[in-house]
Amino acid sequence: MNELPSMFNEYDEARQNGFIEVKKYKESGKKVVGTFCTYTPKELIHAAGGIAVSLCGTSNEPIADAEIDLPANLCPLIKSSYGFAITDKCPYFYFSDLIVGETTCDGKKKMYELLGEIKPMHVMQLPQNNVDQESMVLWKKEIMKLKDRIEKDFHVEITPEKLKEAINIHNEERKAKIQFYELGKLSPSPVTGMEILKVLYGSQFKLDKRESIDYIKELTAKIKDEYENGQRATSPDAPRILVTGCPIGGATEKAIQAIEENGGVVVCYENCGGVKANSLLVDEDKEPIEAIAEKYLSIPCSVMSPNTKRLELLSKLIDEYKIDGVVEVILQACHTYNVEATSVKRFVNREKNIPYINIETDYSQNDIGQLSTRMGAFLEMLY
Ligand code: SF4
Ligand code: SF4
Repeated sequence: MNELPSMFNEYDEARQNGFIEVKKYKESGKKVVGTFCTYTPKELIHAAGGIAVSLCGTSNEPIADAEIDLPANLCPLIKSSYGFAITDKCPYFYFSDLIVGETTCDGKKKMYELLGEIKPMHVMQLPQNNVDQESMVLWKKEIMKLKDRIEKDFHVEITPEKLKEAINIHNEERKAKIQFYELGKLSPSPVTGMEILKVLYGSQFKLDKRESIDYIKELTAKIKDEYENGQRATSPDAPRILVTGCPIGGATEKAIQAIEENGGVVVCYENCGGVKANSLLVDEDKEPIEAIAEKYLSIPCSVMSPNTKRLELLSKLIDEYKIDGVVEVILQACHTYNVEATSVKRFVNREKNIPYINIETDYSQNDIGQLSTRMGAFLEMLY
């Protein structure tokens, strides 16, 4: 019997059981740290014996409540995250002992000021540039400041040994995810884009790192087996799509559905949660704080200026995954991704000679018909 559908579905279950899971950890005395961004050096939390949980809202449900305090014309991720916090509807926020945020975009950093009125909050000053040496000096200091804050709040010592251990397990998780998402390089892809997303987005709800790593490895091995035995999950004629832009998951799955229902197959996610977050490991041969600082500051998010590393990464991915077209998903009012879209479009069209489209969307389901029409027309060009 093919076990793959039930293995993928386990990620939905992990999401639904999040409340019980985090409550169990809390009751066992573990400290819970809420995070919002790929720049958070989670190894520090792990080394302090705590668990990091993502507080990024991906649902439209709490947005009306958030808009009582926040402007309507703001990124839905920020509104959703804040709405969950003030309505006590998110178990991860409810159980968090400390929240860690970074000065990424303006909306988020101002929202953190409001969150700081509800929970203990630590904001890391993220440099706006990841090229200059001064940026690295600042970021290293910020990592040390976070270490001090965690040690002070949780009454623990983060020793170099504990940090090295944490770096090792986080690298293992990254390697397992890389092996999984690189299945998308095969042609035809042995997994659909929805399945890739289920694992990349869903794995954040599997809080036991060891278990999560083993599960991804087992899933990857099973998919390879099935593929070698001739099982095909996608059509060899389906245009191969790379998705880039703002974080994807929850309500924004509608964009992936629109691509795949119109005959395309998403074989690569450059977004946070995908390649951008996982492709670079923390160097285990270097002094731990230095190595952590280097890895995280290299993340090519549009909040950096300039952000040429994103174009370098896109170029490599377009070649390696044999991409036919690039779809950029931008959350409404996300200025950094929206403005950077012009450079990405030019690069993809002129340097890589393939079609590019961007869609600006929010967490409502109002634009599902429009998304489908636009994706249908885009994919037509790729056959
Ligand atoms: S897109 Fe940028 S700001 Fe948003 S979570 Fe990712 S790294 Fe952080
Ligand atoms: S998607 Fe854009 S606006 Fe929204 S939180 Fe991330 S960087 Fe900020």
